Amino acid sequence: MEKLLDIQHMMKYYGNKSSLTKAVDDISFSVEKGEFTAVMGASGSGKTTLLNCISTIDRVTGGHILVEGKDVTRLRGRSLSKFRREKLGFIFQDFNLLDTLNGFDNIALALQIQNEKPARIPGRVEDMAQKLNIREVLKKYPYQMSGGQKQRVGIARALATNPKILLADEATSALDPETTMEVLSLLRRVNEELGVTIVLITHQMNVVQQIANRVAVMSSGKVVERGDVYDVFAAPRQKVTKRFISTAVSGIPEKSRVERLHAQCPGHIVTVLIRQHDVTDTVDGSVIGASGQNISQLIAEHGIHSSLQYGGIDTVRGVAIGAITYEFSGDGVDAFLAELARNSDIIDFGTADDQVPYEQALATAGQE
Ligand code: ADP
Ligand code: MG
Repeated sequence: MEKLLDIQHMMKYYGNKSSLTKAVDDISFSVEKGEFTAVMGASGSGKTTLLNCISTIDRVTGGHILVEGKDVTRLRGRSLSKFRREKLGFIFQDFNLLDTLNGFDNIALALQIQNEKPARIPGRVEDMAQKLNIREVLKKYPYQMSGGQKQRVGIARALATNPKILLADEATSALDPETTMEVLSLLRRVNEELGVTIVLITHQMNVVQQIANRVAVMSSGKVVERGDVYDVFAAPRQKVTKRFISTAVSGIPEKSRVERLHAQCPGHIVTVLIRQHDVTDTVDGSVIGASGQNISQLIAEHGIHSSLQYGGIDTVRGVAIGAITYEFSGDGVDAFLAELARNSDIIDFGTADDQVPYEQALATAGQE
């Protein structure tokens, strides 16, 4: 696969010796042609700084950023503006449309700046509007458009110049959930059907889950986790990622729920993690097995009694991950649990009479 973007030991520091902020602190990763990469991380982790350096709006303090093999940190003056014009497209959280221009002219402006021949501009605007399904808003002014329409015009404007990479910083944060979905599915289509490589920054988990295929997790200026979306979600390594993901991947019962279950059920309370596929560890390359795929078969074989108490399954890029909590009872429970634990990740909360403290149960299962 071709490396379209290759970030090598990139650093960006703000301030001076007495108060230095390492906004981006030695980051290296690459993006291949056609990938949809989401960069996620808490507020202040350095996402915007990273994107501004890729887009050459900001100058790096150190390191290199290669686009199609060319080091863009060395570009200056006209070759820099040419690079920006020809290779990059941007979409913004606040859309950045010009209020005095209608949709058509907002898109056309990007082509004028690129020195496109005037006679060819209307055709190219129409073509983009057709592809993105926004012909109905070409005559409208921004104040007449909904948030979703504005963002679709913003995307059309960014794509009109045929950029190699589309960069988006929190492109959906200002939108309501329904419009967010609409814009996300448009971006996914842009990636899949038009083959545009996208780097999208977000702090919204569901955004990553729904559209990206690669993810980089940032924390304090560093990329702490990186891999395929499913791999990172199904087997997060880092605390920050786990914290993010536990809010998105449903099904692990909170402490008070486990207490309620013990109060209601005398049997063994066990949460089984669900991973539909094997996962390759993003750090050491080892394989983490699928989990929770043969529960019903084992229940039948051991002849134990089971009742489903709680659970949640999310689909990440079409693959199920989540957790299901059961009460297990009957004679063979211990042997059953031992066998289940051999090929699944389980969190054993014990029985009502012999409870495992919540934190200890999670720690034993590697969830903390
Ligand atoms: P994010 O987009 O993940 O919220 P930012 O890249 O905006 O994070 O910020 C990363 C860190 O760099 C923060 O500590 C922020 O305060 C600092 N920072 C960002 N821009 C500047 C700037 N222009 N001057 C000084 N510090 C900055
Ligand atoms: Mg930001």
